[in-house]
Amino acid sequence: MTLFEKIIARQIPAEILHEDEHCIAFRDISPQAPVHLLVVPKKPIPRIGVAALDDQALLGHLLLTVGEIARKENLSEAGFRVVINHGPHGGETVPHLHIHLLGGRPLEWPPG
Ligand code: AMP
Repeated sequence: MTLFEKIIARQIPAEILHEDEHCIAFRDISPQAPVHLLVVPKKPIPRIGVAALDDQALLGHLLLTVGEIARKENLSEAGFRVVINHGPHGGETVPHLHIHLLGGRPLEWPPG
């Protein structure tokens, strides 16, 4: 069971902001911005690069959910960033697909 499956199963606590049939969103335990949330599919796809055609609707749902949560968190006007880390060079540490939603301050580009 992945760390995020344990959060989904309520075996590990998290500040959950959204849950539906397909995904869950909660605050990152180590926030890198005033708003830092993770949107996680309930299906434990390990990382974006191994998602399959069967996951097309789910991936679209995740992105639409990110947009919905950003609006609820009042990030739309000032802006925000969406990040998916894949593998060692990407900075992935949890092998369960998740989308970072970061906002609440200006974010630098390019990333480090
Ligand atoms: P990544 O490095 O892209 O794999 O992102 C994993 C993220 O999960 C990191 O930003 C961590 O801070 C976050 N994280 C790890 N454990 C927890 C937890 N128990 N609750 C919430 N977020 C977590």
